[in-house]
Amino acid sequence: MTTRIFLATLREYMDVRLTVIGSSPAWPNPGSAQSGYLLEGPGRLLLDCGPGVLGRLRERGRLEIDAVAITHFHLDHWGDLVPWAWLCAYGPEPLPRPEVWLPPGGCGELEAFASRWGNEGMFERAFDLREFRPGAESQVAGFALTALRVPHYGLEAYGFRVRDPDGGTVLAYSGDSGPGAELADLARGADLFLCEATLGEDSEDADPRGHLAAHEALAAADGPILLTHRPIELPAPDGTQVASDGLAVDLVARSG
Ligand SMILES: [Zn+2]
Repeated sequence: MTTRIFLATLREYMDVRLTVIGSSPAWPNPGSAQSGYLLEGPGRLLLDCGPGVLGRLRERGRLEIDAVAITHFHLDHWGDLVPWAWLCAYGPEPLPRPEVWLPPGGCGELEAFASRWGNEGMFERAFDLREFRPGAESQVAGFALTALRVPHYGLEAYGFRVRDPDGGTVLAYSGDSGPGAELADLARGADLFLCEATLGEDSEDADPRGHLAAHEALAAADGPILLTHRPIELPAPDGTQVASDGLAVDLVARSG
């Protein structure tokens, strides 16, 4: 009985930590990796896995990732699943086989790449592949993850709400998104909104929109926000923080 109480108390005070593994936009900022955000709490969950992320994860030690969740199939958000699969196939030591959660149809998308390269099944051998159901909560690495559609050119793209079922904290992550009501829905009530801000205030975007200027990201937030996916040449708006590789943030419940 004493042990159970002790464990419950300990869990109550464990934080969820977000570590920015890679913060670059669709091209790398100097010395920076592309999209990759590690959540550590009830498990270890990596949000997106762009080029440069795998090397950064390996700098941290053995690859102990329970699950990876991919927002969409632009290369800067998933490309390092490729060398990860090679590492599993040909690396010097056996690796854990994490779950990889993909947009609907994502398993077929990966298999199409694998067969084009003459390596059928390469992703299935490395990863436990799953597809999330938009709007439905999935249990992923101990977190409750909900994928919500966001506007991103003509591509099927999602943002994530990731809730710690014990502590109750919620991280919202935009992935890549243009402005729209969907983005505000994604961010609503989150303890931290990790949001892309790719564009300068005078930048051109396509129609339909695919990315955000900083003021559009800020307009979608109703609480703490951390901007990311931002070219290093663009300034941070006054009073805001822009993510950089290696930045770690402990999530704190807004009500707490
Ligand atoms: Zn994209």
